[in-house]
Amino acid sequence: MSDAKKKCVDAPPEVKYTKILINNEWRDSVSGKTFPTVDPCTGAKICDVAEGDKADVDLAVAAAKKAFALGSDWRRMDASKRGRLLNKLADLIERDREYLAKLETLDNGKPYSDSYNADLDLTIKCYRYYAGFSDKIQGKTIPVDGDFFTYTRHEPVGIVGQIIPWNFPLLMQAWKLGPALTCGNVVILKPAEQTPLTALYVGSLLIEAGFPAGVVNIIPGYGPTAGAAISEHMEIDKVAFTGSTEVGHIIMQAAGKSNIKNITLEMGGKSPNIVFADADLDYAVEQAHFALFFNQGQCCCAGSRCFVEESIYDEFVKKSVARAKKRKVGDPLDPSVEQGPQVDKEQFDKILGLIESGKQEGAKLECGGNRHGDKGFFVEPTVFSAVKDNMRIAQEEIFGPVMQILKFKDINEVIERANTTSYGLAAAVYTRDIDKALTIANSVRAGTVWVNCYDIFCAQAPFGGFRMSGSGRELGEYGLQQYSEVKCVTIKLTQKNS
Ligand code: NAP
Ligand code: MG
Repeated sequence: MSDAKKKCVDAPPEVKYTKILINNEWRDSVSGKTFPTVDPCTGAKICDVAEGDKADVDLAVAAAKKAFALGSDWRRMDASKRGRLLNKLADLIERDREYLAKLETLDNGKPYSDSYNADLDLTIKCYRYYAGFSDKIQGKTIPVDGDFFTYTRHEPVGIVGQIIPWNFPLLMQAWKLGPALTCGNVVILKPAEQTPLTALYVGSLLIEAGFPAGVVNIIPGYGPTAGAAISEHMEIDKVAFTGSTEVGHIIMQAAGKSNIKNITLEMGGKSPNIVFADADLDYAVEQAHFALFFNQGQCCCAGSRCFVEESIYDEFVKKSVARAKKRKVGDPLDPSVEQGPQVDKEQFDKILGLIESGKQEGAKLECGGNRHGDKGFFVEPTVFSAVKDNMRIAQEEIFGPVMQILKFKDINEVIERANTTSYGLAAAVYTRDIDKALTIANSVRAGTVWVNCYDIFCAQAPFGGFRMSGSGRELGEYGLQQYSEVKCVTIKLTQKNS
């Protein structure tokens, strides 16, 4: 670790922004209410944050409407300048990378080395990737029948509500703001109640970068109040959401009941990670460990059903248990620590409850299974073998450091079992046989398939779910479709000389 990075770890991050951002101004909530955000290492309050509600969402909508009015600075801005602003934002995040990584770790509990290397890296790259698109969002000319000239324009959707989760706060903000802003939308974003701090700091960087007032408004608060006010609002044109499938249902219904909002949903998963006997065993064990335990297991695409071919099953379990026992849990600021606390008590309790159900339903607890330490929300790295498809731990999203290893006999059986779920976010396969790899890639119902790798994320590549894991895609060029409306313009031609 560089001296600069070490210094940052030694000093506690100062929390600079705790209010609501509307119209490029920091405000208290209309109700005057606040809520605490908590350090998951200790359960102690970090600070109080303004608690936005419907009244604040209404104010943000008014500001956003003004920012989006025809003739406004934002609507008249050259597309290339929108790109420059996004690049400037990326520069500022890069400038404050150490501070932001530390603040993310404080609020979320994830290891500082992950915040700094993974979250910040992908966040910066996401803004830069979408910055490049600003002046390349273009329609087509279309040879329609008759004497007409027809072309399409890709226009912004308008006022976009964005509701994000706590597992990758900065990155989920970037996945939402990057494509929305490059397409010229205006935004009302609600960070998760557990992790509002980095989203608010990025609010200050949006102002510093020069985004006009009202283009991005950030409202910390709770889902059933501030979040619901966004998804039910009659003047918000779109809602983009990442979080639980349960809340995805609510958002979709609210969008339907109100003004038939355009929606993008990115939700849960129970992703199959399939290991064939011909795979490099040690590599597959390490990848399967990473696929599940990364980010304290709090990943929508966690490889949480690890299917292993019968002939290597026992060896795979033995090696996976040894690896899990070696996993270092503790202070997320310690650079050698691989696993910090779960984000809050609710998640901690849910995980311990699911571990209990695994034991009761007859899965074999190979290691872990308990709280780690005596304060905060740490959970021991846990591995279950002899897991059956009908057990709760094989069906429900645990969102914690709990690995399920299942046995399979042949490729047809594993494909069928992999697809026996209402989810469809991601899948992976480990094999040296190209035929097996492609058969799995073609047959699993999932938005992402990784072959001999896991969790490879790039701003260039689309991500999203089949079935109840989602609707629409984020990232890549595909991500632009969620944030633009296609307008078709047809002009009558009167000259008939060609
Ligand atoms: P969640 O409630 O779905 O939270 C996601 C976001 O939606 C948060 O900003 C949340 O606000 C907001 N929200 C909640 N209720 C809402 C409503 N009625 N209307 C509009 N917005 C609403 O997820 P969670 O409760 O934090 O976690 C529960 C489970 O969801 C986890 O155990 C995990 O299985 C899954 N999860 C998945 C992802 C993912 O990346 N796909 C991320 C996080 C969680 P609050 O901050 O007030 O909750
Ligand atoms: Mg919640």
